[in-house]
Amino acid sequence: MIITIDGPAAAGKGTLASALANKYNFAVFDTGMIYRALGLNMVLNGMDINDEAAAEKEAQMLTFAKMTSLSQNRDFRSDIGSKAASIVSAHPKVRAALLKMQQDFAKNPVFANGQPAQGAIFDGRDTGTVVCPNADVKFFITASTEIRAKRRYDEFIQKGIKADIDQVISDMKARDERDIQRATAPLKPAEDAYILDTSLLGIDEVLQKAMEIVAQHKKMLEK
Ligand code: C5P
Repeated sequence: MIITIDGPAAAGKGTLASALANKYNFAVFDTGMIYRALGLNMVLNGMDINDEAAAEKEAQMLTFAKMTSLSQNRDFRSDIGSKAASIVSAHPKVRAALLKMQQDFAKNPVFANGQPAQGAIFDGRDTGTVVCPNADVKFFITASTEIRAKRRYDEFIQKGIKADIDQVISDMKARDERDIQRATAPLKPAEDAYILDTSLLGIDEVLQKAMEIVAQHKKMLEK
């Protein structure tokens, strides 16, 4: 079974993805990691992230091992990594170069230890439209900008990263704007996605709703 989860930054995609993966014992593919790894690697090596040809070349050489290693960098989840991800991921050639890696995972999902999994949860943009258009269940989860910015701010503080709430709100607005306006893989729900607004819901309630939808889908398959 394949489940995709899309939505704006800090809406709770990753939290829902790991909660569902725990419930069903599925593997998770956090697709934002590929773009963060690619963008940050280019920044760290002094490369121009606006250079599509250079980014495409780097994308072709990206591996899971490299992604995992870059994810340890302190800027992987900071605004530096987020901005770089949103810029490199807007290059159509980069997305094309990274499509096979994601579709191969959907065909043969595996856990981090290499063991095969019965299903996968894909977290990220265009996973329900381009990467896995035939996914069994698609979610689009969202929340107001202020609430998402507050969640991101709290994450920074918890990790000991200095942050300013007004700056986090304005970075979040800028990123949403870039993600919505861009021509390639703009931020919008797949037509057949279930929309969950997490502004006023806790993770348990979101998980409950999502599991009810998955259960309905399983019932339909059994008929
Ligand atoms: O999900 P995350 O915040 O880690 O993603 C970082 C950025 O990577 C997003 O803002 C988006 O620009 C880009 N992205 C994408 N396609 C995906 C996942 C992420 O374009 N499937």
